[in-house]
Amino acid sequence: MNADKAMKETRGFQAEVKQLLHLMVHSLYSNKEIFLRELVSNASDACDKLRFEAIGKPELLAEGADFEIRIALDAAARSITISDNGIGMSREEAIEHLGTIAKSGTREFFSALTGDQQKDAQLIGQFGVGFYSAFIVAERLSVLTRRAGSDSAVRWESDGSGEFTIEPAARPARGTDVTLTLKPGEEEFATGIRVRTILRKYSDHIATPIRMKKEVWDKDRAAEVATDEDETVNQASALWARPKGEVTDEQYREFYKHVAHDFTDPLAWTHNRVEGRQEYIQLLYLPARAPFDLWDRKARHGVKLYVRRVFIMDDAGALLPGYLRFVRGIIDSGNLPLNVSREILQESRDVKSIREGAARRVLALLEDLAENRKDDYAKFWTEFGQVLKEGVGEDAENRERIAKLLRFSSTAAEGAGVSLSEYLGRVKEGQKAIYYAVADSLDAARNSPHLEIFRKKGLEVLLLADRVDEWMLSFLHEFDGKPLVSVAKGDLDLGELADAAEKEAREKVAEEFKDLVARVKAALGDAVSDVRVTLRLTDSPACIVVESDAMSRHLQRMLKGAGQNLSEAKPILELNPQHPLVTRLKEESAAGLTDWAQLLLEQATLAEGAPLEDPAAFVRRVNRMLELASKNVLRIKDAERQD
Ligand code: ADP
Ligand code: MG
Repeated sequence: MNADKAMKETRGFQAEVKQLLHLMVHSLYSNKEIFLRELVSNASDACDKLRFEAIGKPELLAEGADFEIRIALDAAARSITISDNGIGMSREEAIEHLGTIAKSGTREFFSALTGDQQKDAQLIGQFGVGFYSAFIVAERLSVLTRRAGSDSAVRWESDGSGEFTIEPAARPARGTDVTLTLKPGEEEFATGIRVRTILRKYSDHIATPIRMKKEVWDKDRAAEVATDEDETVNQASALWARPKGEVTDEQYREFYKHVAHDFTDPLAWTHNRVEGRQEYIQLLYLPARAPFDLWDRKARHGVKLYVRRVFIMDDAGALLPGYLRFVRGIIDSGNLPLNVSREILQESRDVKSIREGAARRVLALLEDLAENRKDDYAKFWTEFGQVLKEGVGEDAENRERIAKLLRFSSTAAEGAGVSLSEYLGRVKEGQKAIYYAVADSLDAARNSPHLEIFRKKGLEVLLLADRVDEWMLSFLHEFDGKPLVSVAKGDLDLGELADAAEKEAREKVAEEFKDLVARVKAALGDAVSDVRVTLRLTDSPACIVVESDAMSRHLQRMLKGAGQNLSEAKPILELNPQHPLVTRLKEESAAGLTDWAQLLLEQATLAEGAPLEDPAAFVRRVNRMLELASKNVLRIKDAERQD
């Protein structure tokens, strides 16, 4: 056997790559020309990476420091080749980068696919397919690549059906050629006119020159034929460094897709140059959709950092506060040293001022959306609202501004579009607070017994059910001078909203139920910290509240669920003195009272959406009482018959 052949190795794609290839070819077909954008984007990234790596190792540029991307067409062979003289790939890198998907959460992403092609096509765009999109139009893909600083090259080949081969090869200089043999029917991508149009549309913003052979019309052959003359088809200057007026919306959008590795248009962007002690340019985008790994801590977050047009790093998280981690784009600093590292970024005071400036800029962009493009703001809120909420706790300086951007569900409106300002515009005369209810779900919040008195008085209550809500509220004590008050806190004081008659009724009822309250309290013992009567309920017999200054029950449950060891504050049981179940307790015997008291406590716990400590005991109790009740019904019926 030939030694060289023996070194040609066949490997299988990672399972997820196979799935991706299959799905993509079917779902992205209507948008097939984007493969070129993706391959040019990779070529440009490869040049950026080498430009950066060469700062510390100038010898990597021994073959020259002029970067370029070349596109060569061969109509006869039905092929298109995208070449760059960037960083290239070693054998290991080619296997790793072109045979697997390195993103964290990939497996979870694929297991979430539905099998419905239309829906999955949407999702796949959100995932971003990059290199593999070449298989939409190619029946065969060949990548010849040589890592900068190395003498040897490798050839990677695949027909996209599940395997690829890798073998040693020769390439005269560093860089990568990606050659697509087009599927029959896709010949258009080997013609100059078509390819130029695509490049102008999608890749004009690429800062590295993209060159092609100039073509002239050949009368005899009635076709365009390539000449020896080179032609640059893009503007080849950093888009963010151009004056705003010279960049079209289309170019901004395409640039976003390149930096964010996203297939969808961005929702909005902000582009400006900051001068002063720190000089930098920022071009920041709001994506239209949350990436599938928004909640994955290991996922890429943040923006690209450039220093004086030189690419430094992807995902520079330190350039934006954590609660704006969904923002994509670039920041190009005029002051930072070229050899800046992630560690330096974390601690640098200069970076701190860039970060603060960027945060203000993004907040201004959000304010503008909220004010002038309400539908788009609603979209933003659905995708990223939960992340923005973290800012209330994280960014004390901008807390007010962020609070204004919050949106809530409420008892007065469907959907999640109520702002605090809107709420304040609707407060009743004499209302001194902004009321809210937190529960595990919006339905649980909406149906909470705590809302009964608010409904009766026509007071609006904000409904919250996101995981971050309680935490956020612990930083947001007031808005526009009005305190935020939980409807589940004890001793609910509606202030002037309770009229004199109600106050009197309250005192009277407290007196009237003094004995019963004491007996119920004795019966429940350790399970509660207090029992009292309340006028906050209209329909339910009982509810649970906490002391005004105690941690809410919902938060206690969340912390416990997260494994935190905390001594649980005992609940207060409030009884509705108008409810028949409560009034008839006065006549109950000691034994019966214990059962009823337990049942009321358990009911109130369930109504909060909280689990019971001993569900089996609850079921036994309910059954025992139902049995008793049905016996009573029979007895009454018997008595009626005898009458
Ligand atoms: P992404 O660009 O989002 O990282 P891609 O699927 O487009 O994902 O590319 C996968 C990886 O393959 C890149 O991250 C890079 O490491 C490598 N790669 C692709 N094209 C090239 C190229 N022309 N030169 C060097 N590396 C490349
Ligand atoms: Mg890419």
